[in-house]
Amino acid sequence: MEKLKIKIATLGYIPFKIGFSKIIKWKSSIFEVDKSIDEYKIKLDSDTEFWGYSDKTIEKELPTNSGFDFLIAITNVPLEDKYYARRFSGNRICITFADVLEYMRYETIKLENYILRNIYRYSLVYLMYGNRIPVQYEKTNFTHDDTRKCLFDMNGNKTELIYSLDKPKICIECKHKLSGQIDQKVPDKIINTVEKEIKRIKKNRFQKINEFVKTNPVLSLFLTFLAGIVMSLIGTWLYELLRILICEK
Ligand SMILES: [Zn+2]
Repeated sequence: MEKLKIKIATLGYIPFKIGFSKIIKWKSSIFEVDKSIDEYKIKLDSDTEFWGYSDKTIEKELPTNSGFDFLIAITNVPLEDKYYARRFSGNRICITFADVLEYMRYETIKLENYILRNIYRYSLVYLMYGNRIPVQYEKTNFTHDDTRKCLFDMNGNKTELIYSLDKPKICIECKHKLSGQIDQKVPDKIINTVEKEIKRIKKNRFQKINEFVKTNPVLSLFLTFLAGIVMSLIGTWLYELLRILICEK
């Protein structure tokens, strides 16, 4: 299979830094992301509750997808029905950081994990629907309501989104769906490759340590104390060793 060609764009002002270079450089046998991340302003005002934007408005604001298998627009405005992702005509998807950013920050999850997780999710959606992204109002069943750390978790409760942003999986039910329960069969080779590649969507060592300190504050304090004593002992021992060596000369 030829690699899927994906375009990433930003829609509206993004007031925080996203490491797009990591996404562009991400090594995948399934897709390649265009090196240029285009920025687009939002001209229209919000038109739904809580300063959200309806699909009708986002559809007007989205750039055209020309020459790519699909386009993902990243925004920070709330989308219709407070979804974190909506699907539009012309193989375009809009994903938002509204309401999900704070959970990622609290869990020290890199923002790029969220984008990569969605790139894999919609790459498989594109393949299982016969090389197209079904629009939002089309009846689909590629998600499940319960949270399984799976690429296809619905995450109606957005606090649970974080579970599929650190080593996400494809659950058994979704594997069956990918093997032919929806429009097109996705070859096993692709499913296996995706499973291997998404293991690299994970927290780094610093984030793991941070998580350990948050969940084990007393033990962390004790370990810091212990490390202090050990360092002090090593320092004393080195001092004595140097003193003996110098005196012997
Ligand atoms: Zn699943």
